[in-house]
Order: sequence, then C-alpha cells, then structure tokens
Amino acid sequence: MRRMHRRLFRLCCIVCLLFVPFASPAQKTPIALIGTLVTPQEVVPQGTVLIQNGRILASGADVKLPAGTKVVHTDGVIAPGLIDLHNHLTWNVLPRWKPIQEFGSRYDWQQKPISKILLTVPHDALVKEGLECEMERYAEVKAISEGETSVTGSPHLSCVHGLARNLDYDPELDGSFGHLGKILYDVFPFQMSEPELIAAKEVLSAQPRGALLIHVAEGAPNDASAAREFTMLKGRGLLRPGVSLIHGVALKPEDFAEMAKQDVGFIWSPRSNIELYGDTANVAAAQSAGVRIALAPDWSPTGSDGLLGELNYASIWNQTQSPPLFTERDLVLMATSNAAELVGLSGQLGSLAAGHAADLMVVRKSGQDAYWSLTHASPQDLQLVLIGGVPMYGDPAIFEQLTGSQGERLEVCGTPKAVVVGAKSLAETEKTLDDALHQFGTKLAPLAECGN
Ligand SMILES: [Zn+2]
Repeated sequence: MRRMHRRLFRLCCIVCLLFVPFASPAQKTPIALIGTLVTPQEVVPQGTVLIQNGRILASGADVKLPAGTKVVHTDGVIAPGLIDLHNHLTWNVLPRWKPIQEFGSRYDWQQKPISKILLTVPHDALVKEGLECEMERYAEVKAISEGETSVTGSPHLSCVHGLARNLDYDPELDGSFGHLGKILYDVFPFQMSEPELIAAKEVLSAQPRGALLIHVAEGAPNDASAAREFTMLKGRGLLRPGVSLIHGVALKPEDFAEMAKQDVGFIWSPRSNIELYGDTANVAAAQSAGVRIALAPDWSPTGSDGLLGELNYASIWNQTQSPPLFTERDLVLMATSNAAELVGLSGQLGSLAAGHAADLMVVRKSGQDAYWSLTHASPQDLQLVLIGGVPMYGDPAIFEQLTGSQGERLEVCGTPKAVVVGAKSLAETEKTLDDALHQFGTKLAPLAECGN
C-alpha cells in the first residue's frame, strides 16, 4: 500500500544468498520440543517436534527420539512460524498513525500533507541519513516478536541481516531445499516497465513457478479508481497462476470468481484497510469463490505490529460477521500454510511436517483451544521463535535452556524476553533510530503496542 519513493520491484537474482542466522549454526544436536502441536491442519494435544540441522525430522504424538536429544517441555502451543506476505518493513519504525478521516484510495491519502508530515518525511530522511538497514533490522526484530519467521517487503539485499527469512530476497531459503521459484513483491505493478513486466512473466512461467505479490485495488469498496485496477491488471496479462493480489478492497465478487479460475491468490490485511478506508475486502466473496487467502499486517503505522496482532484483529473482525465467515483454524492457516502455498513454498515452510524448515513458534496456552490460543496471543504470550532450528527470540528461561546463553534482554509490554540479533545490540539500533526520529518531533515505535 505504501508509496515507496523507490520502486520495490526486483528480480531477486540472489540465488547464492545464504540464510545465516546470527545466533549459531543450525543445531547439530537434535532438539525435541514437547507441547500441543498445531501442524497447522490438525491439533496434537501431547506432541513432539524433533529438529536437527535446521529441519523438522519428525512430529506427532509418538516420535522416537535419538540418543542425545535435548528435550524441552514447553507446556505451550507449538505452531509453524508465521509467514508475512505483505509488509513495508522500514516504515515500522514510525509510530501509529490514526487518520481522522477515511480515504478513497491509496492515491488519496498518499497526497495528503498529514501523511507526508507523519510518515514520508521522517522515513525518507532516515533513509537519506543511511539508516535504512538499521530500520530494516529493527523491523525484523519487531516481526519476529510477533511470531513471524518469514517476511516480505525489505528494501535491499544489502539490508538482509540473517534475522527473519526475507522471502523476496531469499527464495532459495537456506540453499538446501533445491531449486525454488523466485518471489517478486511489487507495490505499484502498473508502473512496471515493459522489461520488468516481461521479466515478471518469465518468473511466472518458469519451472518451478515463481510468485508475484502485487498491490491491487487498494481503496474503499466503492472507489472507482481502485476498482478499475482489476481491469488494468487483466490488460497487462497478470491474472495468471503464481500471482497474488494484496488488499483488493475494491474487488467485486465476479473479480474473485475470475481469480479463482486463474488460480490467483489473495492477501488480506483487514486492520490497515479498515483504519484507512473504513472497510475491508469482500473476503466472503473470496471464500465462496474458492480463492486461497493469506493474512498479513501491511505495516504497523495503520496495520498491526505483526502477524500475531493481525490474527487477533482478524478474529475479532470475524466475530462481527453474522454468521462468522471463518473458524479460528481458517485464520491460522491463512498465516501459515496458505501463505506458504501462495509463494510455492508449501513443501518447505508453514507446516510442522517432517522435511520442512524448523521455523516455528511456541505460544502460551489460553482460552478455548489451541487455534484460539494462536489467534488471541499477545506479544507477552510468545514464548519462543526458532528460525532454521536456531532460537532467535523467547522467554529468557526457555531461551537459555536451548542456547546456554542469555541473549540480549529486552522487555515487551513489561514482560522480559531474550533475543539474538548479532554483533550490534538491539538497544544500540533502537537508540540510533530514536535519536534520528527526534528531529521530526517523533520517536521510535515500540516493538508492540501493548493493547493500545
Ligand atoms: Zn502495502
């Protein structure tokens, strides 16, 4: 949704990029996490996930553990790490913007002085000061503290720090999954040059097929200019398998029907839609047409801090529908396996099944059932995040049990957490960004809103 001053389209020609988490090399000692598994298709009440060398070796109710396995009883809900297919990471350093009006389309608010004063000017000034990668670094920690293990919407290959997986820069994951399709992410698909369009179509025709995630029809449901983008999209030959449309608030039921026919996916961002346009996409039509739906937060100024927050928001929104459209399970699938499927990574991410990357999270049990625990988890409830089998974030006790180190301590909504971010501390990054934002009369956004 963001007007980025620099186009985000890129061809991700970085097959040699390795995913290198800072914490430590992928675990050679097998780890077994015990708790309630959300696979995510089903719940296993007393299950085990066995991990080694960055992969899930086995999961289920009856897993045989090799000698020397480090066993951790979590007493929590163990689920795949969340996959964020719609974000604009560097903007997440900025505090929330609460517009006092509803806008017609993204072209509308992006021209308003208030959005320039609060967002564009400070963001672009920090980029100009050379802080873009610091902004990205902070935003990735923010994403991880919201249960995300994979993100999109990073500004540069050079800003990829080895924290979260940057799908639009690292479609090969850790290089050990074999050849995978490229993932392209574009905020303004109608500004693609002819060579860019040709290159995108090549990615969509390749074997294995890549993915193209594009912002389309972002505006109020009745906004004519936003609605017209669907016709323009077809005119550019982009209604085809491998494409997923982001926002789509102005899409009509017949548009979703055409999308389903062409195997085009949909990425839903309800909070940002409602805060900017007063309503969200017609997901009832998307669902009944059979379109595969993923959930993503957009960005934290008008969306959620991350995917746990967006799951909370989507769950509450769902309760306002009569009858509710989705089950809690449906929502969890949108943030895990559905998202993986939209980018051609369902064999690698978004599941606790054997062979998948050991990207997972543990959330405190609460409420009605395991799915409900996930869709109602607060940032304090996130007990552990592993990426490629490496503990990146969590409650200090479980973090220390797994890593033998304390990591860097921080507080999220008054709850102590531990994180590992590399040589430079998170506290240093926070101070740098906070100082830089001070000159614009603002301050660094917190990792979590803590109920505001
Ligand atoms: Zn967006």
